[in-house]
Amino acid sequence: MKAVPLADCKNALGQIQPETLGIYVHVPFCRARCRFCAFYMERLREDRVQTFLDGLDREFRLYACDVGLRKIPVHTIYFGGGTPTTLPSHQLIGILHAIRRWFLVEDDAEVSVEVHPGTVTSEALRAFRQAGFTRLSVGGQSFDQTELRELGGRSYGAGVRQAISWARSAGFKNFSLDLMFGFPGQSLESWQRTLDEALALSPSHLSCYAYTLEEGSPFYREVMRGKGSEPDQEFQVALEERAVEQLTAAGFERYEISNYCRPGYACRHNMRYWQVQAYLGLGPSAQSCLGRARFGNVANLEGYADSLQRGTLPLDEITCLSHDQVDRERVIWGLRMLSGVRLQSTENKTALLHTIRQLREEGLLRVEGQGRVSLTDLGIRYADTVAVALL
Ligand code: SF4
Repeated sequence: MKAVPLADCKNALGQIQPETLGIYVHVPFCRARCRFCAFYMERLREDRVQTFLDGLDREFRLYACDVGLRKIPVHTIYFGGGTPTTLPSHQLIGILHAIRRWFLVEDDAEVSVEVHPGTVTSEALRAFRQAGFTRLSVGGQSFDQTELRELGGRSYGAGVRQAISWARSAGFKNFSLDLMFGFPGQSLESWQRTLDEALALSPSHLSCYAYTLEEGSPFYREVMRGKGSEPDQEFQVALEERAVEQLTAAGFERYEISNYCRPGYACRHNMRYWQVQAYLGLGPSAQSCLGRARFGNVANLEGYADSLQRGTLPLDEITCLSHDQVDRERVIWGLRMLSGVRLQSTENKTALLHTIRQLREEGLLRVEGQGRVSLTDLGIRYADTVAVALL
């Protein structure tokens, strides 16, 4: 996909007024790096936290005032990272208060925070609930202690159970568990046990991500040195089928390729990504989507803070998509949802329709009434291939 130069885009940043907004805050700190992870993060250091918080406050002001997003209703807020809960609860709550000061946050906004067991206390969870956080996303990965040590040297199983018990006492009804399947050393039996343990905690939402070998991760470096192996895709399919079987039998709806929810508990913030609705990513390395502009912050805390101190947005890259590219992006992301995406009657989608027809003939897509397109079971298995064909 070749983007058109920003100068050619009439909807340049600063002239874009979306109807609603989602806000993502990237907290770039973790206690240590998990072996599968290549996200931008730093080991938590107290002296770096203030640099981050100062930068964030400047960034809020620039977007609210200079870019003019102050009066746009904010429907969702998501604190991710990194590990947001490496920061003390009063700092995360301070960030939420600042967002409310600078933006127009709706009363019924979904406010999520990623929580890692071992970095939260029952007091912190109570404080989150009182401050207006409505949803927790709890990093579990696996309930097998040996696997957890392999993944990053931590032991979370008991920690997850404890964190969820505290979350319930604090009044949270909406919480998600993140699980991973198909990583080195996992077996069908251990995945089954992890699913059983997860279901026993009665979450409202589950994310089950296939392990991928990410360039820059410790696992990647090991494979490059000839140790370890690449993901076994056939095995991952078997594990995913087990998850679908078990979670749907337990009353969960698979509403997105990797996400399952009880009725009414789909993640509203992530739905914005899949429906390509406007979102603003704040903090180092965060990505944004406003109108036809796609842009991301520098993945470096110094560069981020320096740029904001000079009064400029800390952007690393910005592109402006053509209308045709926006159509394709909407279909590609929309197909991640199992309900699919409805084609819009735009003029310039002839080539797109041709590709959709081909994918349908190959049994990867189905087209239903009113131009709704969705992945078939085979299409779900080859979702990446479908996305590449639609680019
Ligand atoms: S997976 Fe999450 S907790 Fe682990 S290093 Fe990456 S960002 Fe941090």
